[in-house]
Amino acid sequence: MKVLVVNCGSSSLKYELFESDTGQSLASGLASRVGVNGGEEALLEQKRAGDEEKFTVQAPMPDHKVALGYVLAALTDPEEGVLGSLDEIQAIGHRVVHGGEAFSQSVLIDAVVEAAIERFCEIAPLHNPANLLGIRACRDRLPHAPMVAVFDTAFHQTLPPVAYIYGIPYELYEERKIRRYGFHGTSHRYVAGKAAEMLDKRGLAPEQQRIITCHLGNGCSITAIQGGKSVQTSMGFTPLAGLLMGTRCGDLDPALVPYLINHLGMDPEEIDDLLNKRSGLLGVSGVSSDMRDIHQAISEGNARAKLALDIFSYRLRRYIGAYATVLGGVDAVVFTAGIGENDALVREQSTRDLEFLGLYLDQTRNNDPSLRGQPADISKFDSPSRILVIPTDEELLIATDTAEIVGKSG
Ligand code: ADP
Repeated sequence: MKVLVVNCGSSSLKYELFESDTGQSLASGLASRVGVNGGEEALLEQKRAGDEEKFTVQAPMPDHKVALGYVLAALTDPEEGVLGSLDEIQAIGHRVVHGGEAFSQSVLIDAVVEAAIERFCEIAPLHNPANLLGIRACRDRLPHAPMVAVFDTAFHQTLPPVAYIYGIPYELYEERKIRRYGFHGTSHRYVAGKAAEMLDKRGLAPEQQRIITCHLGNGCSITAIQGGKSVQTSMGFTPLAGLLMGTRCGDLDPALVPYLINHLGMDPEEIDDLLNKRSGLLGVSGVSSDMRDIHQAISEGNARAKLALDIFSYRLRRYIGAYATVLGGVDAVVFTAGIGENDALVREQSTRDLEFLGLYLDQTRNNDPSLRGQPADISKFDSPSRILVIPTDEELLIATDTAEIVGKSG
């Protein structure tokens, strides 16, 4: 079955087309700057599997519907495309950020599901509205194809109340559903599944496994997984909580917010901007939110860039320790996403002196570039617990879920 995976951001439309039976990606692409300044500077870039060169289209894309039109034209382009006709697309999988408490797994999108996604716009104002735009554009342009929603929050719906209830009046949970939700669930679930296979081969049955997954991209989160189920995760009511990130602050004393209001005269929008867009690696270093730039600045002697990197690793290490306690021990720590898959120093710093948890890093394997791009075990041969690097593939998991659900419903 050919499945189109769609991930809509407020000004972007990311997509990938899969042959779900084999898990093979046929083409992927990104429409960016959609609707920015009327969409005049929008750009579509598409790459077919195996091609070196990207196919690019520069055209005005005032909204996601227009952008999707260009995406579908690129996918069916006689020279650059991969499809003879749009009818070949048999299902569409949408990444949806917030599913609240309503969804603990992926679902076929119908009017009820769409209304729920709309309801959760209140708690995910940056993401869910964009996801809805994608869903509506696809329904408009590809009315024949059933659609599935795959939620970032769903994997974390197995958290127990001790992990998701905040220490504030309980009525705020009952009446407003204010609680920890957690995000990046598709990525944590994907790499945990791969890690489970690797541990299983070593003789540890899946139901006994205690795995800590570290998703370290622009956004960063860490999850404790017991017997395949998420039992604790670092992001909260929103993706701002937990680890230090590219531009987000992560954990913070909440009393800082009234302080900023009362003493610095900031309003809610300014505070939101400060904590979400001007903090994290960028805020501490004053250099960049991008970890590669942080390393470059450190090599030039920038002390604040070094501090930013050290805080990043320190907080991660602290969380690994805490989550090992939550799980009563740890069988594997998994690193994934841009930083997790590529940054040997972050992996080294965040697992330093954790031999008491059974985690022994093999420095040579940690620094071996030939191990990149594939699941790799970077712990010492006789390490009781494993340290793994596993490339994430959220799109593939979305395609797999979509094919399975559409297959069953048809
Ligand atoms: P997103 O969350 O947007 O999907 P990614 O998973 O691509 O992000 O991760 C982006 C982060 O990964 C950036 O901080 C980037 O600097 C970092 N990164 C990418 N490649 C490397 C590398 N070789 N070394 C260190 N960090 C890297």
